[in-house]
Amino acid sequence: MGGGSEINSGLYHRTPPDILETWRKDFKVAGIQDEELRPHFEACEKDVSVSLLPGAAPAASLKLHNGALKLGWKSLEIPRWFRYESGPNGESRGSRQSMTRTFVPRFLHAGGKLVPNSRALSIRQEGGRWLVKAKHASGKDFEISAETLFVCAGAVQTPALLRRGGITQNVGDHLRLHPTIKLVAQFPEAVNAADLGVPVHQVKEFSPRLSFGCSISSPPYLALGLLDHPAAARAVTQTWTRQANYYAMITGEGHGTVRPLPGFRDPLVRYRLTTADMRDLADGLRKLAEIMFASGAEKVFPGVTGAPVLNNADELRQLPEVVPPGKASLITIHLFSSCPMGEDRSKCAVDSFGRVHGVKNLYIADASLLCTAPGVNPQGSVMAFARRNALHFLNQN
Ligand SMILES: Cc1cc2nc3c(=O)[nH]c(=O)nc-3n(C[C@H](O)[C@H](O)[C@H](O)COP(=O)(O)OP(=O)(O)OC[C@H]3O[C@@H](n4cnc5c(N)ncnc54)[C@H](O)[C@@H]3O)c2cc1C
Repeated sequence: MGGGSEINSGLYHRTPPDILETWRKDFKVAGIQDEELRPHFEACEKDVSVSLLPGAAPAASLKLHNGALKLGWKSLEIPRWFRYESGPNGESRGSRQSMTRTFVPRFLHAGGKLVPNSRALSIRQEGGRWLVKAKHASGKDFEISAETLFVCAGAVQTPALLRRGGITQNVGDHLRLHPTIKLVAQFPEAVNAADLGVPVHQVKEFSPRLSFGCSISSPPYLALGLLDHPAAARAVTQTWTRQANYYAMITGEGHGTVRPLPGFRDPLVRYRLTTADMRDLADGLRKLAEIMFASGAEKVFPGVTGAPVLNNADELRQLPEVVPPGKASLITIHLFSSCPMGEDRSKCAVDSFGRVHGVKNLYIADASLLCTAPGVNPQGSVMAFARRNALHFLNQN
């Protein structure tokens, strides 16, 4: 029910102004001037307690920050949706302000009803009402009937659900994401601990083309990050306290599609990276490794099959100029744009406020409607647009 908010890092950004400008110009999205969106960002920031760390950042996060500053590159602490309280010994304890801690209780308090452990299988309109066919985890099938339907199943499942219901106009045709490449850096001293906490710094010198950050670095995640370096992966139980996972994320220009397949529960997702994307990923990897050496790393393990372990900044030239197809262990945790919003009906699935074009009483309220990759962590944008669109709906009805 709470989706990504239940497990994510909670790093918060507003949608950058230049991205909003692109959405306004290229997709004809109305009502996204700064003064129109600001109240929604501010309200969400208050509701989920967006705040900076009360104390020092984790050592691995500071390694990234200090390395970037040494190179003269812009790096900053990103606030998170966390509420901090003092523990018995004066230590600060934070809890993530996920949806189940914030908006879901409000929804229930206002009289909303949750049907947990259930999956929407299909939607259809009948006699002026929406019918959602669903299955409970126990195997029981049931239907929900509603006058108006908001679909919020995320950038992959929302277009799949719509397409299964025969709604296909600009739906699932333009999936965007933030392709991400990783490396593991090893330092002479300890930078990692069982209670490391979430790294909070991001390097924004080359944003929106490239962003750098530090990610979860417990031994299993380090071993995953070292899959391209099997000997180092095997040694991780001895070395992990001196190691951390770092990533270079690109905005990219590639895109993909989401298509349901008959007989399969999940849809087929295709995504094509362009040569420029593979060049940006290589550039990001090189710059990230440069930061690590500037911060005192003794070894860098790039997440590229066949790439050598790097021992100093001079060896950076051994990295490829363009990541070879099929050789990089790419990941993504940010997906959007599969049902873009806007008044340009030639490319948009929903209008500027989330209503599906040409379909009565059907709305989308999730990352699907972001027109392009925002170049920053997206949940701040998802929340602000959901709030704005819900209030717009209420004012109109
Ligand atoms: C590991 C990780 C770390 C991240 N860190 C950050 C971060 O620090 N900052 C940030 O801004 N973003 C972060 N993100 C991204 C962020 O979590 C997502 O962009 C955001 O949650 C997207 O919101 P959404 O509402 O579109 O989809 P989701 O959050 O995915 O919500 C969709 C919900 O719909 C449910 N659902 C799907 N299909 C069906 C169906 N057929 N029937 C019923 N329910 C269904 C799903 O179970 C889910 O609960 C992270 C993501 C991951 C995975």
